[in-house]
Amino acid sequence: MQTNFTPEQLQDPHIAVANQILRKCVHCGFCTATCPTYVLLGDELDSPRGRIYLIKNMLERGEAATSETVKHIDRCLSCLACMTTCPSGVHYMHLIDDARAHVEKTYRRPLFERLLRDLLAFLMTRPALFRTALGLSRLAQPLAPVLEKLGEKHLKAMLELAPKVPPEPETMGRPGVYPAQGKTRMRVALLRGCVQSILDPAINAAAIRLMNRNGIEVVVSEGETCCGSLTHHMGKEADALARARRMIDGWREANVERVIITASGCGTTVKDYGHMLRLDPAYAGKAERISAMTRDISEFLIEIGLPKIVPPRALRVAYHSACSMQHGQKIRTEPRRLLEQAGFEVTDIPEGHLCCGSAGTYNILQPEIATRLRDRKIANINSVTPAVIATGNIGCITQIGQATEIPILHTVELLDWAHGGYEPRVLRESSKG
Ligand code: SF4
Ligand code: SF4
Repeated sequence: MQTNFTPEQLQDPHIAVANQILRKCVHCGFCTATCPTYVLLGDELDSPRGRIYLIKNMLERGEAATSETVKHIDRCLSCLACMTTCPSGVHYMHLIDDARAHVEKTYRRPLFERLLRDLLAFLMTRPALFRTALGLSRLAQPLAPVLEKLGEKHLKAMLELAPKVPPEPETMGRPGVYPAQGKTRMRVALLRGCVQSILDPAINAAAIRLMNRNGIEVVVSEGETCCGSLTHHMGKEADALARARRMIDGWREANVERVIITASGCGTTVKDYGHMLRLDPAYAGKAERISAMTRDISEFLIEIGLPKIVPPRALRVAYHSACSMQHGQKIRTEPRRLLEQAGFEVTDIPEGHLCCGSAGTYNILQPEIATRLRDRKIANINSVTPAVIATGNIGCITQIGQATEIPILHTVELLDWAHGGYEPRVLRESSKG
Protein backbone atom coordinates (compact mmCIF):
# COMPACT_ATOMS: atom_id res chain seq x y z
CA MET A 1 0.00 0.00 0.00
CA GLN A 2 1.33 3.42 -0.89
CA THR A 3 1.59 5.83 2.04
CA ASN A 4 2.05 9.60 2.03
CA PHE A 5 3.51 10.57 5.38
CA THR A 6 5.68 13.69 5.40
CA PRO A 7 9.33 13.41 6.51
CA GLU A 8 8.33 15.33 9.68
CA GLN A 9 5.59 12.82 10.45
CA LEU A 10 8.02 9.95 9.98
CA GLN A 11 10.22 11.41 12.72
CA ASP A 12 7.56 10.16 15.14
CA PRO A 13 8.58 6.54 15.93
CA HIS A 14 4.93 5.44 16.18
CA ILE A 15 4.19 6.78 12.71
CA ALA A 16 7.40 5.21 11.38
CA VAL A 17 6.26 1.78 12.61
CA ALA A 18 2.72 2.30 11.27
CA ASN A 19 4.19 3.32 7.90
CA GLN A 20 6.21 0.09 7.66
CA ILE A 21 3.16 -1.99 8.54
CA LEU A 22 0.86 -0.18 6.10
CA ARG A 23 3.33 -0.57 3.24
CA LYS A 24 3.21 -4.35 3.60
CA CYS A 25 -0.51 -4.52 2.83
CA VAL A 26 -1.17 -5.45 -0.81
CA HIS A 27 -5.00 -5.03 -0.59
CA CYS A 28 -5.56 -8.69 -1.46
CA GLY A 29 -8.48 -8.96 0.98
CA PHE A 30 -7.75 -12.55 2.07
CA CYS A 31 -8.14 -11.33 5.64
CA THR A 32 -11.77 -10.32 5.15
CA ALA A 33 -12.93 -13.95 5.01
CA THR A 34 -11.74 -14.71 8.53
CA CYS A 35 -12.63 -11.40 10.18
CA PRO A 36 -15.58 -11.95 12.56
CA THR A 37 -16.99 -8.43 12.16
CA TYR A 38 -16.87 -8.62 8.37
CA VAL A 39 -18.42 -12.08 8.44
CA LEU A 40 -21.29 -10.73 10.57
CA LEU A 41 -21.76 -7.20 9.23
CA GLY A 42 -20.57 -7.53 5.61
CA ASP A 43 -19.27 -3.94 5.59
CA GLU A 44 -15.80 -3.42 4.06
CA LEU A 45 -15.09 -0.79 6.73
CA ASP A 46 -15.61 -3.51 9.35
CA SER A 47 -12.98 -5.71 7.71
CA PRO A 48 -9.23 -5.60 8.37
CA ARG A 49 -8.55 -4.12 4.94
CA GLY A 50 -11.18 -1.42 5.45
CA ARG A 51 -9.84 -0.57 8.89
CA ILE A 52 -6.29 -0.42 7.54
CA TYR A 53 -7.45 2.24 5.05
CA LEU A 54 -9.23 4.19 7.77
CA ILE A 55 -6.18 4.06 10.03
CA LYS A 56 -3.87 5.13 7.18
CA ASN A 57 -6.08 8.13 6.40
CA MET A 58 -6.43 9.05 10.05
CA LEU A 59 -2.68 8.93 10.71
CA GLU A 60 -1.72 10.65 7.45
CA ARG A 61 -4.07 13.54 8.13
CA GLY A 62 -2.61 13.75 11.62
CA GLU A 63 -5.86 15.23 12.87
CA ALA A 64 -8.38 14.19 15.46
CA ALA A 65 -10.11 10.87 14.71
CA THR A 66 -13.60 11.20 13.26
CA SER A 67 -16.63 9.51 14.80
CA GLU A 68 -16.99 7.32 11.68
CA THR A 69 -13.40 6.04 11.96
CA VAL A 70 -13.77 5.50 15.70
CA LYS A 71 -16.96 3.49 15.14
CA HIS A 72 -15.16 0.96 12.92
CA ILE A 73 -12.00 0.84 15.07
CA ASP A 74 -14.14 0.23 18.16
CA ARG A 75 -15.91 -2.63 16.44
CA CYS A 76 -12.59 -4.43 15.91
CA LEU A 77 -12.21 -7.25 18.46
CA SER A 78 -8.40 -7.26 18.24
CA CYS A 79 -8.88 -11.00 17.74
CA LEU A 80 -6.00 -11.00 15.23
CA ALA A 81 -7.56 -13.64 12.96
CA CYS A 82 -6.50 -11.29 10.14
CA MET A 83 -2.85 -11.66 11.13
CA THR A 84 -3.10 -15.44 10.89
CA THR A 85 -4.65 -15.18 7.42
CA CYS A 86 -2.53 -12.39 5.93
CA PRO A 87 0.03 -13.73 3.43
CA SER A 88 2.05 -10.48 3.49
CA GLY A 89 2.85 -10.43 7.19
CA VAL A 90 0.94 -7.23 8.00
CA HIS A 91 1.35 -6.69 11.77
CA TYR A 92 -2.22 -5.58 12.33
CA MET A 93 -1.88 -5.83 16.14
CA HIS A 94 0.72 -3.06 16.39
CA LEU A 95 -1.24 -0.95 13.89
CA ILE A 96 -4.57 -1.16 15.71
CA ASP A 97 -2.84 -0.59 19.08
CA ASP A 98 -1.34 2.65 17.76
CA ALA A 99 -4.67 3.61 16.18
CA ARG A 100 -6.48 3.14 19.48
CA ALA A 101 -3.86 5.27 21.25
CA HIS A 102 -4.37 8.00 18.61
CA VAL A 103 -8.16 7.83 19.10
CA GLU A 104 -7.77 8.05 22.87
CA LYS A 105 -5.55 11.15 22.52
CA THR A 106 -7.55 13.01 19.88
CA TYR A 107 -11.22 12.00 20.07
CA ARG A 108 -13.71 13.16 22.69
CA ARG A 109 -16.26 10.39 23.21
CA PRO A 110 -19.84 11.08 24.31
CA LEU A 111 -20.09 11.44 28.11
CA PHE A 112 -21.69 8.04 28.87
CA GLU A 113 -19.13 6.19 26.76
CA ARG A 114 -16.28 8.03 28.47
CA LEU A 115 -17.62 7.25 31.91
CA LEU A 116 -18.25 3.60 31.06
CA ARG A 117 -14.75 3.08 29.66
CA ASP A 118 -13.13 4.86 32.61
CA LEU A 119 -15.22 2.83 35.05
CA LEU A 120 -14.20 -0.45 33.40
CA ALA A 121 -10.53 0.53 33.30
CA PHE A 122 -10.68 1.50 36.99
CA LEU A 123 -12.67 -1.46 38.33
CA MET A 124 -11.22 -4.32 36.33
CA THR A 125 -7.62 -3.48 37.14
CA ARG A 126 -8.25 -3.40 40.92
CA PRO A 127 -9.05 -6.91 42.15
CA ALA A 128 -10.58 -5.92 45.52
CA LEU A 129 -12.90 -3.38 43.94
CA PHE A 130 -13.69 -5.77 41.10
CA ARG A 131 -14.73 -8.45 43.62
CA THR A 132 -17.11 -5.98 45.28
CA ALA A 133 -18.50 -4.88 41.91
CA LEU A 134 -19.13 -8.53 40.96
CA GLY A 135 -21.02 -9.12 44.20
CA LEU A 136 -23.19 -6.06 43.58
CA SER A 137 -23.76 -7.11 39.95
CA ARG A 138 -24.96 -10.52 41.13
CA LEU A 139 -27.48 -8.85 43.45
CA ALA A 140 -28.62 -6.53 40.65
CA GLN A 141 -29.01 -9.28 38.03
CA PRO A 142 -32.85 -9.29 38.31
CA LEU A 143 -32.69 -5.72 36.93
CA ALA A 144 -31.22 -6.90 33.60
CA PRO A 145 -34.64 -7.16 31.83
CA VAL A 146 -35.52 -3.64 33.05
CA LEU A 147 -32.27 -2.29 31.59
CA GLU A 148 -33.06 -4.05 28.33
CA LYS A 149 -36.49 -2.37 28.20
CA LEU A 150 -34.80 0.98 28.82
CA GLY A 151 -32.43 0.23 25.92
CA GLU A 152 -29.34 0.21 28.17
CA LYS A 153 -27.41 -2.71 26.69
CA HIS A 154 -23.95 -2.00 28.16
CA LEU A 155 -24.99 -2.10 31.81
CA LYS A 156 -27.21 -5.11 31.10
CA ALA A 157 -24.20 -6.92 29.58
CA MET A 158 -22.14 -6.03 32.67
CA LEU A 159 -24.73 -7.53 35.01
CA GLU A 160 -25.13 -10.66 32.96
CA LEU A 161 -21.39 -11.33 32.81
CA ALA A 162 -21.12 -11.64 36.60
CA PRO A 163 -21.07 -15.38 37.40
CA LYS A 164 -24.35 -16.43 39.07
CA VAL A 165 -22.49 -18.47 41.71
CA PRO A 166 -19.54 -16.88 43.55
CA PRO A 167 -16.24 -18.74 43.09
CA GLU A 168 -14.95 -21.02 45.86
CA PRO A 169 -12.21 -19.21 47.82
CA GLU A 170 -8.65 -20.45 47.20
CA THR A 171 -5.58 -19.72 49.29
CA MET A 172 -3.25 -21.19 46.69
CA GLY A 173 -2.53 -18.42 44.19
CA ARG A 174 -2.24 -15.60 46.70
CA PRO A 175 1.16 -13.82 46.82
CA GLY A 176 3.91 -16.07 48.15
CA VAL A 177 6.32 -18.83 47.22
CA TYR A 178 4.93 -22.30 46.46
CA PRO A 179 7.77 -24.82 46.78
CA ALA A 180 8.37 -27.67 44.38
CA GLN A 181 7.69 -31.22 45.51
CA GLY A 182 10.93 -33.22 45.44
CA LYS A 183 13.93 -31.80 43.62
CA THR A 184 13.47 -28.23 42.33
CA ARG A 185 13.92 -28.13 38.55
CA MET A 186 13.10 -24.47 38.02
CA ARG A 187 11.76 -21.35 39.73
CA VAL A 188 9.05 -19.46 37.85
CA ALA A 189 6.72 -16.52 38.41
CA LEU A 190 2.98 -16.92 37.88
CA LEU A 191 0.87 -13.95 36.80
CA ARG A 192 -2.34 -14.07 38.85
CA GLY A 193 -4.32 -11.93 36.41
CA CYS A 194 -6.42 -9.17 37.98
CA VAL A 195 -9.75 -10.37 36.53
CA GLN A 196 -9.04 -14.09 36.50
CA SER A 197 -7.86 -14.24 40.12
CA ILE A 198 -11.28 -12.94 41.20
CA LEU A 199 -13.56 -14.62 38.66
CA ASP A 200 -12.02 -18.08 39.00
CA PRO A 201 -9.14 -18.51 41.48
CA ALA A 202 -9.27 -22.30 40.93
CA ILE A 203 -7.38 -21.85 37.64
CA ASN A 204 -4.16 -20.56 39.18
CA ALA A 205 -4.47 -23.02 42.07
CA ALA A 206 -4.60 -25.89 39.55
CA ALA A 207 -1.60 -24.47 37.64
CA ILE A 208 0.47 -24.13 40.84
CA ARG A 209 -0.39 -27.65 42.06
CA LEU A 210 0.51 -29.15 38.70
CA MET A 211 3.80 -27.25 38.44
CA ASN A 212 4.78 -27.98 42.09
CA ARG A 213 4.10 -31.68 41.56
CA ASN A 214 6.47 -31.59 38.61
CA GLY A 215 9.39 -29.97 40.41
CA ILE A 216 8.63 -26.30 39.70
CA GLU A 217 8.82 -23.67 42.43
CA VAL A 218 6.22 -20.96 41.80
CA VAL A 219 6.41 -17.34 42.94
CA VAL A 220 3.34 -15.09 42.96
CA SER A 221 4.63 -11.53 43.37
CA GLU A 222 3.31 -9.42 46.22
CA GLY A 223 3.10 -6.15 44.32
CA GLU A 224 1.37 -7.56 41.25
CA THR A 225 -0.88 -5.17 39.39
CA CYS A 226 -2.79 -5.65 36.15
CA CYS A 227 -0.33 -6.54 33.34
CA GLY A 228 -1.65 -3.56 31.33
CA SER A 229 -3.52 -5.59 28.72
CA LEU A 230 -6.91 -4.13 29.54
CA THR A 231 -5.97 -0.46 29.31
CA HIS A 232 -3.61 -1.14 26.38
CA HIS A 233 -6.58 -2.35 24.32
CA MET A 234 -8.52 0.76 25.29
CA GLY A 235 -5.74 2.99 23.95
CA LYS A 236 -4.81 4.18 27.45
CA GLU A 237 -1.10 3.90 26.72
CA ALA A 238 0.43 5.73 29.68
CA ASP A 239 -1.51 3.58 32.13
CA ALA A 240 -0.65 0.33 30.29
CA LEU A 241 3.07 1.16 30.13
CA ALA A 242 3.20 2.12 33.82
CA ARG A 243 1.63 -1.24 34.70
CA ALA A 244 4.05 -3.10 32.42
CA ARG A 245 7.04 -1.42 34.11
CA ARG A 246 5.76 -2.41 37.57
CA MET A 247 5.28 -6.01 36.49
CA ILE A 248 8.78 -6.14 34.98
CA ASP A 249 10.34 -4.79 38.19
CA GLY A 250 8.43 -7.32 40.30
CA TRP A 251 9.44 -10.30 38.17
CA ARG A 252 13.07 -9.22 38.03
CA GLU A 253 13.16 -8.98 41.83
CA ALA A 254 11.63 -12.46 42.07
CA ASN A 255 14.69 -13.86 40.28
CA VAL A 256 12.87 -16.40 38.13
CA GLU A 257 13.65 -18.23 34.89
CA ARG A 258 10.16 -18.04 33.36
CA VAL A 259 7.00 -15.98 33.65
CA ILE A 260 3.99 -18.29 33.38
CA ILE A 261 0.60 -17.02 32.30
CA THR A 262 -2.73 -18.83 32.51
CA ALA A 263 -4.83 -16.16 30.72
CA SER A 264 -3.85 -16.02 27.06
CA GLY A 265 -5.13 -12.45 26.69
CA CYS A 266 -2.57 -11.31 29.27
CA GLY A 267 0.09 -13.54 27.70
CA THR A 268 -0.22 -11.83 24.34
CA THR A 269 0.41 -8.44 25.98
CA VAL A 270 3.32 -9.55 28.20
CA LYS A 271 4.99 -11.19 25.19
CA ASP A 272 4.69 -7.79 23.48
CA TYR A 273 6.29 -5.78 26.33
CA GLY A 274 9.51 -5.62 24.31
CA HIS A 275 7.71 -3.71 21.54
CA MET A 276 5.54 -1.64 23.87
CA LEU A 277 8.54 -0.35 25.85
CA ARG A 278 11.04 -0.14 22.98
CA LEU A 279 11.19 3.67 23.21
CA ASP A 280 11.96 3.68 26.95
CA PRO A 281 15.75 3.42 27.32
CA ALA A 282 15.46 2.40 30.99
CA TYR A 283 13.11 -0.49 30.26
CA ALA A 284 13.55 -1.55 26.61
CA GLY A 285 16.14 -4.28 27.34
CA LYS A 286 14.41 -5.49 30.50
CA ALA A 287 11.06 -5.65 28.71
CA GLU A 288 12.58 -7.61 25.85
CA ARG A 289 14.02 -10.16 28.30
CA ILE A 290 10.74 -10.56 30.19
CA SER A 291 8.84 -11.08 26.92
CA ALA A 292 11.38 -13.71 25.86
CA MET A 293 10.98 -15.69 29.10
CA THR A 294 7.16 -15.55 29.13
CA ARG A 295 5.23 -18.74 28.41
CA ASP A 296 1.61 -19.73 28.35
CA ILE A 297 1.07 -22.55 30.87
CA SER A 298 0.44 -25.01 28.00
CA GLU A 299 3.75 -24.13 26.31
CA PHE A 300 5.54 -24.49 29.63
CA LEU A 301 4.01 -27.88 30.44
CA ILE A 302 5.14 -29.17 27.04
CA GLU A 303 8.61 -27.72 27.75
CA ILE A 304 8.99 -29.51 31.10
CA GLY A 305 7.09 -32.67 30.03
CA LEU A 306 4.41 -34.32 32.14
CA PRO A 307 4.56 -37.94 33.29
CA LYS A 308 2.32 -40.63 31.75
CA ILE A 309 -0.84 -41.21 33.76
CA VAL A 310 -4.05 -43.21 33.92
CA PRO A 311 -6.86 -40.75 33.02
CA PRO A 312 -9.50 -40.18 35.74
CA ARG A 313 -12.58 -40.34 33.52
CA ALA A 314 -13.11 -40.62 29.75
CA LEU A 315 -14.46 -37.27 28.61
CA ARG A 316 -15.18 -35.75 25.23
CA VAL A 317 -13.62 -32.30 25.36
CA ALA A 318 -14.30 -29.53 22.82
CA TYR A 319 -11.16 -27.42 22.79
CA HIS A 320 -11.91 -23.73 22.19
CA SER A 321 -8.74 -21.97 21.17
CA ALA A 322 -8.93 -18.36 22.38
CA CYS A 323 -8.01 -15.78 19.74
CA SER A 324 -5.17 -14.52 21.91
CA MET A 325 -3.91 -18.12 22.07
CA GLN A 326 -4.15 -19.15 18.41
CA HIS A 327 -3.76 -15.80 16.64
CA GLY A 328 -1.99 -13.65 19.25
CA GLN A 329 0.55 -16.19 20.51
CA LYS A 330 0.35 -18.76 17.68
CA ILE A 331 -0.12 -21.55 20.22
CA ARG A 332 -2.22 -24.08 18.33
CA THR A 333 -1.15 -27.64 19.13
CA GLU A 334 0.16 -27.61 22.70
CA PRO A 335 -3.11 -27.48 24.73
CA ARG A 336 -4.71 -30.13 22.57
CA ARG A 337 -1.64 -32.37 22.80
CA LEU A 338 -1.58 -32.11 26.58
CA LEU A 339 -5.27 -32.96 26.86
CA GLU A 340 -4.87 -35.97 24.57
CA GLN A 341 -1.80 -37.18 26.45
CA ALA A 342 -3.90 -36.97 29.64
CA GLY A 343 -6.44 -39.34 28.08
CA PHE A 344 -9.21 -36.95 27.04
CA GLU A 345 -10.95 -37.28 23.70
CA VAL A 346 -10.42 -33.88 22.12
CA THR A 347 -12.59 -32.51 19.37
CA ASP A 348 -12.20 -29.34 17.31
CA ILE A 349 -15.00 -26.79 17.06
CA PRO A 350 -16.21 -25.76 13.57
CA GLU A 351 -15.27 -22.16 12.68
CA GLY A 352 -12.66 -22.39 15.41
CA HIS A 353 -10.85 -19.34 14.02
CA LEU A 354 -13.82 -17.04 14.84
CA CYS A 355 -13.86 -15.09 18.10
CA CYS A 356 -16.47 -15.89 20.80
CA GLY A 357 -17.04 -12.15 21.31
CA SER A 358 -15.30 -11.82 24.67
CA ALA A 359 -12.20 -9.78 23.69
CA GLY A 360 -11.42 -8.01 26.96
CA THR A 361 -14.12 -5.42 27.56
CA TYR A 362 -15.62 -5.84 24.07
CA ASN A 363 -18.62 -7.84 25.31
CA ILE A 364 -19.60 -4.84 27.46
CA LEU A 365 -18.70 -2.08 25.01
CA GLN A 366 -20.11 -3.80 21.88
CA PRO A 367 -22.74 -6.14 23.34
CA GLU A 368 -24.79 -6.76 20.17
CA ILE A 369 -21.87 -8.03 18.06
CA ALA A 370 -20.43 -9.91 21.04
CA THR A 371 -23.74 -11.70 21.68
CA ARG A 372 -24.09 -12.72 18.03
CA LEU A 373 -20.56 -14.12 18.05
CA ARG A 374 -21.17 -15.92 21.34
CA ASP A 375 -24.36 -17.55 20.07
CA ARG A 376 -22.64 -18.60 16.85
CA LYS A 377 -19.78 -20.10 18.87
CA ILE A 378 -22.18 -22.02 21.12
CA ALA A 379 -24.09 -23.39 18.12
CA ASN A 380 -20.77 -24.62 16.71
CA ILE A 381 -19.84 -26.17 20.05
CA ASN A 382 -23.22 -27.90 20.32
CA SER A 383 -22.71 -29.42 16.88
CA VAL A 384 -19.83 -31.57 18.20
CA THR A 385 -21.75 -32.67 21.36
CA PRO A 386 -18.94 -32.42 23.91
CA ALA A 387 -19.23 -33.33 27.59
CA VAL A 388 -17.07 -30.36 28.48
CA ILE A 389 -15.42 -27.30 26.89
CA ALA A 390 -11.79 -26.46 27.63
CA THR A 391 -10.04 -23.20 26.85
CA GLY A 392 -7.08 -21.14 28.02
CA ASN A 393 -8.57 -17.72 28.66
CA ILE A 394 -10.87 -16.51 31.43
CA GLY A 395 -12.63 -14.05 29.11
CA CYS A 396 -13.83 -16.92 26.88
CA ILE A 397 -14.85 -18.99 29.91
CA THR A 398 -17.06 -16.14 31.14
CA GLN A 399 -18.44 -15.23 27.71
CA ILE A 400 -19.32 -18.75 26.57
CA GLY A 401 -20.18 -20.03 30.05
CA GLN A 402 -22.97 -17.51 30.58
CA ALA A 403 -25.06 -19.01 27.77
CA THR A 404 -24.44 -22.76 27.78
CA GLU A 405 -25.22 -25.64 30.13
CA ILE A 406 -22.10 -27.50 28.99
CA PRO A 407 -19.43 -27.19 31.69
CA ILE A 408 -16.57 -24.91 30.59
CA LEU A 409 -13.23 -24.70 32.33
CA HIS A 410 -9.55 -23.92 31.86
CA THR A 411 -7.37 -26.56 30.18
CA VAL A 412 -5.03 -26.58 33.18
CA GLU A 413 -7.87 -27.58 35.53
CA LEU A 414 -8.46 -30.73 33.48
CA LEU A 415 -4.72 -31.43 33.36
CA ASP A 416 -4.28 -30.95 37.11
CA TRP A 417 -7.19 -33.31 37.78
CA ALA A 418 -5.82 -35.93 35.38
CA HIS A 419 -2.43 -35.68 37.08
CA GLY A 420 -3.68 -36.26 40.62
CA GLY A 421 -5.33 -32.93 41.54
CA TYR A 422 -8.91 -32.14 42.49
CA GLU A 423 -11.88 -32.75 40.27
CA PRO A 424 -12.83 -29.27 38.96
CA ARG A 425 -15.89 -27.72 40.55
CA VAL A 426 -17.90 -27.41 37.32
CA LEU A 427 -17.49 -31.14 36.70
CA ARG A 428 -18.43 -32.07 40.28
CA GLU A 429 -21.53 -29.93 40.02
CA SER A 430 -22.52 -31.17 36.57
CA SER A 431 -22.17 -34.85 37.61
CA LYS A 432 -24.43 -34.12 40.67
CA GLY A 433 -27.05 -32.38 38.58
S1 SF4 B 1 -8.50 -8.10 14.69
FE1 SF4 B 1 -10.26 -9.47 14.31
S2 SF4 B 1 -12.04 -8.09 14.23
FE2 SF4 B 1 -10.20 -6.81 14.04
S3 SF4 B 1 -9.89 -6.57 11.84
FE3 SF4 B 1 -8.63 -8.34 12.49
S4 SF4 B 1 -9.95 -10.12 12.19
FE4 SF4 B 1 -11.28 -8.33 12.12
S1 SF4 C 1 -4.59 -10.16 3.85
FE1 SF4 C 1 -2.91 -8.83 4.50
S2 SF4 C 1 -2.14 -7.91 2.61
FE2 SF4 C 1 -4.18 -8.75 2.14
S3 SF4 C 1 -5.60 -7.02 2.50
FE3 SF4 C 1 -5.50 -8.17 4.40
S4 SF4 C 1 -3.90 -7.16 5.60
FE4 SF4 C 1 -3.65 -6.45 3.46
